[in-house]
Amino acid sequence: MQLVLASSNKGKLKEFEQMCHISIVPFGELMDSFEIVEDGTTFAQNALIKARTIYQKLGSDYIVISDDSGISVGALDDRPGIYSARYAGENAGDKENLSKIIQELKEKGLSRTPAFYTAAIAIVSRYGEYVMHGWMHGDVIDKARGEKGFGYDPIFIPCGYEQTLGELDDEIKLQISHRANAMRSAGSIIRMVKKADQDRKGAQ
Ligand code: IMP
Repeated sequence: MQLVLASSNKGKLKEFEQMCHISIVPFGELMDSFEIVEDGTTFAQNALIKARTIYQKLGSDYIVISDDSGISVGALDDRPGIYSARYAGENAGDKENLSKIIQELKEKGLSRTPAFYTAAIAIVSRYGEYVMHGWMHGDVIDKARGEKGFGYDPIFIPCGYEQTLGELDDEIKLQISHRANAMRSAGSIIRMVKKADQDRKGAQ
């Protein structure tokens, strides 16, 4: 069973490739890319919407995995949360979204304040639907530092560090990130699904 990622976000794809020890194909390689309307009210709902949509198009020979994630800043009433990808507007990119948060922190006179990332990872296959969560806590600052990672990483300092995720080595993020934490649980589900499929094929 081929594992397919229901995302075209390059930053996420790179992290999934580094975290998964089995091959993972972005759905854009199997079909024309199209927009999935993420109208859920939680990370888990949006992750399931993405994984179900791609699974329904591909069929039951595939395991589809999706990630819905974002950053929540306590001092901003936990915004942007599920709206992280489109915080500065529907067509906004990472740069505009980052600038908007920095602007809001400056308006509140906050140079450093607590925040956390959430990732919901959904897995959909003929063996059912699963959702796992992971979190990473730290602070956001009012200046972008570093070029590594993606999205809000240049303003996020994880607990226990003084550098932003834009400055820290990729290997550190792969150990401590919200996505890595959710993937630890997702890994055992993927192994279980693959085993169930081998058993089914063996019994045929
Ligand atoms: P999604 O693709 O709809 O789940 O949107 C996720 C958005 O949350 C991304 O576009 C980023 O803005 C932000 N985000 C999620 N995970 C990360 C991360 O690991 N680093 C930086 N930004 C992230």
